[in-house]
Amino acid sequence: MSEIFRELTVDLGERSYPIIIGSGLLGSTDLSPYVAGSQVMIVTNDTVAPLYLDKIRNSFPGKQVDTVVLPDGEKFKDWQTLNQIFDALLEQRHSRKTTLVALGGGVIGDMAGFAAACYQRGVPFIQVPTTLLSQVDSSVGGKTGINHPLGKNMIGAFHQPQVVLIDTDTLQTLPPREVSAGLAEVIKYGLIRDTEFLAWLEDNMDALVGLEAGALAEAIYRSCACKAEVVALDEREGGLRAILNLGHTFGHAIETFAGYGTWLHGEAVGTGMLMAADLSVREGMISRTDYERTANLIIRAGLPRLPPETMVPDDFMRLMAVDKKNVDGQLRLVLLKAIGNAIVTAGASSGHLSGTLSSFCQ
Ligand code: NAD
Ligand code: MG
Repeated sequence: MSEIFRELTVDLGERSYPIIIGSGLLGSTDLSPYVAGSQVMIVTNDTVAPLYLDKIRNSFPGKQVDTVVLPDGEKFKDWQTLNQIFDALLEQRHSRKTTLVALGGGVIGDMAGFAAACYQRGVPFIQVPTTLLSQVDSSVGGKTGINHPLGKNMIGAFHQPQVVLIDTDTLQTLPPREVSAGLAEVIKYGLIRDTEFLAWLEDNMDALVGLEAGALAEAIYRSCACKAEVVALDEREGGLRAILNLGHTFGHAIETFAGYGTWLHGEAVGTGMLMAADLSVREGMISRTDYERTANLIIRAGLPRLPPETMVPDDFMRLMAVDKKNVDGQLRLVLLKAIGNAIVTAGASSGHLSGTLSSFCQ
C-alpha cells in the first residue's frame, strides 16, 4: 500500500463499512474479502470503462466477474438504463449472492446502488467512485436512486455499500470543471462542521486544484469523515443531515434556471454557499470577514461567484418555493451561525433575503 493510504469507518451498527482512500489503490487492492458469494457484476459507463475497467477487473481473484457498460450522462439515470443492469444480471445468471460494483461518478454509484437494493430484493454492493464529487459525497451515506421525468432522484432506496474504495489517481483524468465542482462540497464540510479543516483548505487549496495526491487524500478523508459522522447521527435525514444542504437551496434554483447540465451541481452549490454566507452576515450570525474567507476559497477552487447574468431575484423566489426542505410553504434555509456551525432555519427575515438576492443578481 502507498504511504498516503487512509481508512475510516462509517459507523452504522451492523451496516458499518470502511472507506479506503489513497493513491495507486485500483488494481492493487484485493476486494474479494468484501464479496460474500462467487459472482461480481461491475457497473460502469462508456467514459470510465476505457480508463479503469481493466484495473478493477483484477481486484476479485477467484470470482466470476461480469461487466455492464452504460451510456454516460445524467440523462441516462433513468428506468430504461437501470433495466440494462437487471438484463445483464439475469442474462449472466447472477444469484442472490452476487455483488454489484459501481465504477464511476455519482450517476453510476446511484444507479448501481439502486439496482443492488432491488435485485432479488437486495444484494450487496461496492462503491469505487471516480469523480471528486462521488468520492466526498455520493458514495458515502447509502442514498441510491434514479431520476423520473417529473423530478430528480425521485425513485430510490437507502442501501449502504460493503466498502468504498477511493483511488485519488482517478482524479488525474477528470475534467478540471468536475474537480472544481467536487471542491465545492469539500469546502461545504469545512463551513458546516469543521473550522480546522477550513483553515487547512485555505493552506492547501492550490495543491488540491493541482491534484497533489497527498492533499487530495487528506481532503477526501476529512470530507468523508464529516459526512460519515453526520450520516451516523441521522441515517435517514430526520434532522441533522439537512445541514449537508448548505448552499443547495440557492444552488438548485440556479441549476433549474440555467437548465440541468448547463451549470454543474457543484458550481451551483459554490455560488449558493456564498449567497447563504451573505445572508448569514445580514442575519448577524457571521462577520463580513468570515464571508470574505468563504468567497476566497470558492474563487480559488475555480468556482463561479455569481449566478447566471440573466437571473433576477424573482427567479430565485419562484424556484426556491418548491424546495424539499420547506415545511407548510415556509422557506427553510441552511445558514451559518458561525464558521463551522450550520443551522436549518425558517426564520431568515424576508428583507435580508431580498438584500442578498439583489446584491447577487447583476
Ligand atoms: P457524473 O457521475 O455524471 O460524472 C461526471 C462526468 O465525469 C461523467 O461524464 C463521467 O463519466 C465522468 N467521469 C467519471 N469519472 C471519471 C474519471 N476518473 N476521469 C474522467 N471522467 C470521469 O457526476 P458526479 O458529479 O460524479 O455525480 C453526480 C450525480 O451524483 C448526480 O446524479 C447526483 O444526483 C448524484 N448525487 C448523489 C448523492 C447521494 O447521496 N447518493 C449525493 C450527491 C450527488
Ligand atoms: Mg450536493
